This record gives sequence, structure tokens and C-alpha cells, in this order.
Amino acid sequence: MPRRSLLAAVTGATVLALVTATTPALAQPVAPGAPAAGQCSDEPRDLPVHEFTDHRELGVELSRIERVSGGAVDVTEVGRSNRGREVWAARVGTGPKAVLITSEIHGNEKTGTDAILRLLDFLGTSDSPKAERWRSEVTVVAIPKMNPDGAELDRRGNDMTWDEVTARFPQLRGSEPAWNYYTTPRQGDDYAQRPGFDVNRDYNPDLSYEPKAEDFPGTSADTGWYITPESRIVRDVYKGLVAEFGEVDTYVDLHHQGACYVMPDDPGRFVTLSISGKFVDDPATTPGYEEYADTYDLDYSKQLNVAVYNALQGRANNNPLFGNITLYPQDTNLPGTGLGSFALNGSGAVLFEVRGQTQTLGQKYRAQLTQAVYIGLDGMLSSIASGQVENLDPAVYDTIPPRGPSIGDAAERRSLQVLEP
Ligand SMILES: [Zn+2]
Repeated sequence: MPRRSLLAAVTGATVLALVTATTPALAQPVAPGAPAAGQCSDEPRDLPVHEFTDHRELGVELSRIERVSGGAVDVTEVGRSNRGREVWAARVGTGPKAVLITSEIHGNEKTGTDAILRLLDFLGTSDSPKAERWRSEVTVVAIPKMNPDGAELDRRGNDMTWDEVTARFPQLRGSEPAWNYYTTPRQGDDYAQRPGFDVNRDYNPDLSYEPKAEDFPGTSADTGWYITPESRIVRDVYKGLVAEFGEVDTYVDLHHQGACYVMPDDPGRFVTLSISGKFVDDPATTPGYEEYADTYDLDYSKQLNVAVYNALQGRANNNPLFGNITLYPQDTNLPGTGLGSFALNGSGAVLFEVRGQTQTLGQKYRAQLTQAVYIGLDGMLSSIASGQVENLDPAVYDTIPPRGPSIGDAAERRSLQVLEP
């Protein structure tokens, strides 16, 4: 596959060592587990990712967890990707609060899948009081690697052509393709040969929406259409949970962002993780969205994010990496994202944006970044299960430091802004 030719012949570690050696002024003392910011690049490269869980391994691991859990974890195939790969949901717990967690909607953002597997293993096999409380108070439904075609290609978009869309939805023949249809190179991937969609612009808060020709090509500020099988699968799981529980208490979507953001008060520290609970403008004051004003609960999303933040700050003494947490930019208005659409339907919403996608960091910090996601999920679930989340002050959310600037290459930085979350 032709991609990421630049620097492909040497490993990321070698590159870092080379550039650092030529710029001693930027070298920082390196705390254990906390790589100091020095040189950083968002330029796409070919880097190994085999330590992450691929689609085949995911199936094996989910089966194993289901087996050893003795019935606590139930794994089902909830649909197939456009190229026919299984999409699985794993369900554990019998509590009244439904928590939906998804990962790898962008296939080059992989730590979330590994964190989910660890979470399922704990929830399914531990007889600790903590695990028992989680299982009795919460019902967790996880859809790891929800875009398996993109994940196998190790790229952001899914693997689907506009012709395939119009074959499924004949009413769209003759329409201009959706604005989020990728046909040109980005992030080092050749979409000209294999086009695809950003699945995370394909959601619509109207959970019964079917694609209409007059709604294309759309824009980032508009809702999506459920034209991809992957977004429809998650939508259907979400609707099923609404039918069963009345609402989905919490929706978490696990992503990665650019590799080179630094803390606002310290350009020597990279941002490990940015979080957010806000994805859309206030529906009460947004024309066309008034119907969602009563269900939308930004304060609850803020409380959930505070639980995530507190858990990570509590671990910062052990590992400074977990102290480098910021808010994701709060000026996003993306109703076509899963988080935006489900937040409008009343779910508390939490975005994780881990440092660096695979084309910039590969698997280099896999274990630590996966651990950061796990700690955040652990803190959030503990807070939901105990009810403490209701006592957290939403105003604390607004005191979480904002993300600092990116110190990466300017050209790549510009393109990043349209490639998040
Ligand atoms: Zn993403």
C-alpha cells in the first residue's frame, strides 16, 4: 500500500533521536513515563502498529472474555461493515444505567479498543466489590473497533464508494456526494484508490432519519445521514438501549488527536489526553434544534468529564503523564458526530482524544496511552456506579486547562483541524 513514504525506512525512535541530537536547546529532562516535548511532527509516516489489537484478534479476545466470564459478558455480532467484517457489541452488568462506549470509528485511533478489552476483562472476571458494584449499578455496552474496515487499513475513513451508497439508497442517485467523502490523499492514506467516508460525520440526532437527496452534500455544521453501515449499527444499538432503559445514561467515544499539542502553561509537556462534553451549540438557541432543548443535559456531560479528569489527576503523582490532561476545544459544533447526535438525545457525553494517531506515533506509547484511557473510564464508571457523579460540580469542568498549541509542522497542523474529533 503506497503511503507514508517519508522517513519510512527508519523507526520513529531513530528519527526522534536524530532530531533531538541536533537540537540540544530543546531537550528537556525526561520524567519516567512522561516524554518531554522537544521536536514533534504531524507528518505522516509508516510506523508499526502490530501491538494493537487487529480485527481477527479482537474476535478471539472477545470470545475468550465471554467464555471466562461465565456468562457475565455477552458478545453478539450487531452488524457487518461495508466490506463484510463483523462488528461486535459486548454487554456486561445488569444495572439500570446504560453506558455505551465505542472505539476506532477512526481506524488510525486504536488505544480505545485495547482499553475496552481490559475493561471487559475486569468487569467480566473480577469478584471485587468494585466490579460487583459496577455490574449491579451499570449496564455497559461496548462496541470496540466500530469501523473495522478503516482499522484494518489503519486509516481514518471507512472503505466505501459513493456508488455503493447510491446502490443502497437509490434516492441519492444524481446527488452530489456527501461532503465527508474522501477521494484525495490525507494523513498519508490514498483515498483516490480506495475512497471512504468519515463515519463520525454521518450521525443524525433524528434516530429514524433516512437519507434524502435534498440534504446532500451537507456541511460540517449540518447533521449526517446514516449512509454508512457502521454508523447505522451504532445507531441501532443506541435505539435498542433507549427502548430498553428509557435513555442511554452515558455515551463515550474514544479517539486520538494530533501528536504535538502541549500544555497551555508548559511547552515542555505534551498533552496526553484531551476530553470534552460539548459538541454542539446549545439547542435551545439554535434554530432547527429546539426540539432537543429539553433532553440535552450539558451539565451532566460536564460532571462525567470531571470524574474522568479527577481520576487521572489522582494518578499524576505516580506518573506525570496522567497529569497532562486538557479540555478539548469547546467551540465545536458537529451535530453529525455520534457524540453530538446522542448528546442531543439526552445522553451524558464524553470524548477522549488521546495523543497522536498511528501515522505520527505508531504504537510507540501504546501501553501508557491505553492506561490513560483505562484510568479515565474507570473513574467515570466508578462515579456513575456510586452515584457520586451527581455531586460533582459541573463548574469544575470549565477550570480544566484548555489545550495548548501544537508545536508540529504548520501544514499538517492546518489539516488536523478538520480531522478531529
Ligand atoms: Zn477521531
